[in-house]
Amino acid sequence: MACKRVGIIGSGQLGRMMALAGTPLDVEFVFFDEAQGSPCSQLGRMIQPSSDNALKDFISSVDVVTYESENTSLELVREINKQKPVYPPELSLGKSQHRLTEKTEFNDLGIDTAKFKRVTSKQELASATAELGFPIVVKTTTLGYDGKGQAVIKTAADVDTAWEQLGGSELIAESFVNFSRELSVIAARGVNGEIKIYPIAENMHQDGILRVSRVPVKGLSPEKEQQAKDFITLLLNHLGHVGVLTLELFDCEGGLVANEMAPRVHNSGHWSIEGSFCSQFENHVRAICGMPLGNPEAKQAASAMINVIGKNGDRNCVLANSNAHLHMYGKSERLNRKLGHINVFADTEKEVEDNLVKLADFIEECG
Ligand code: AMP
Repeated sequence: MACKRVGIIGSGQLGRMMALAGTPLDVEFVFFDEAQGSPCSQLGRMIQPSSDNALKDFISSVDVVTYESENTSLELVREINKQKPVYPPELSLGKSQHRLTEKTEFNDLGIDTAKFKRVTSKQELASATAELGFPIVVKTTTLGYDGKGQAVIKTAADVDTAWEQLGGSELIAESFVNFSRELSVIAARGVNGEIKIYPIAENMHQDGILRVSRVPVKGLSPEKEQQAKDFITLLLNHLGHVGVLTLELFDCEGGLVANEMAPRVHNSGHWSIEGSFCSQFENHVRAICGMPLGNPEAKQAASAMINVIGKNGDRNCVLANSNAHLHMYGKSERLNRKLGHINVFADTEKEVEDNLVKLADFIEECG
């Protein structure tokens, strides 16, 4: 008999890694998703939302429900919540679905962000550039991910193009943040309010997609580390969050600036599968099931995670590297699709970098 039955809305790689982490804890998983042959198909029962009595069946098959994406329907979460707990809570999901409410919430809690303005017309976009100063970043307020749904306006001449590209819906105009690097802080909060914070990661993106995360962050001052921990603690408690929460940050001269949060396990925390004592996936499952949380500290002096994107590559060269772990998601090849990741660890940051160089051919091959 399973100790808990967890329902997951979605059945992608995040659900897969939650199930892989939760199964040894005697937790059973049920996935609510239309997709056939998905990364989760071997790991539990799949219920297709379009099938007869799907929602009723899903709700009665589980003790608690979670989700993989910040774009999960709030309406669906509210409906399920009438009968079974859904974690992270509706408040965390709702706030993270809208860039304006999210950034307003950050500022209300004393968490710095870029200056921002709401924009609903070309005229307002032009006046936002006057108010914020060039360059600015314009984004759709909802449904943007991996750098999609956004444009940079460098001069007045770019306003028309940006409006044509993104206009029609509500936008957020942000001042351009001069950051030296991008960081993320991930933490889990239990039903009883217990909080565990992972070491901060440094994230390298290319074409708007995360490529590499490294832990620890080289030369991060203790003040900034504390700032990141304070930010996420404030958010977790304010939201009454249960489960994992991720906060993406810009590292700036004067301190950290928050960009966005995700009420879920995150690509920049995949290193924790072998890199920490208790991975973000296990701690998410523990949190939503009301179990005590595990130790998020790094086991290794240095870790890195590299995404396998678009193509599968020759995996034998990863398997031959004793400092590397391959995690494939069972997905077919497609341009810019995240197909898997490799975790690398070593006793020194230099050794990790040397291993990344050794894996360079594989990564190159994977686009
Ligand atoms: P987002 O969709 O908000 O995660 O943004 C995608 C990427 O665009 C970020 O990872 C940053 O590299 C960049 N970016 C977003 N907002 C800003 C900003 N206000 N200033 C500078 N760069 C930004």
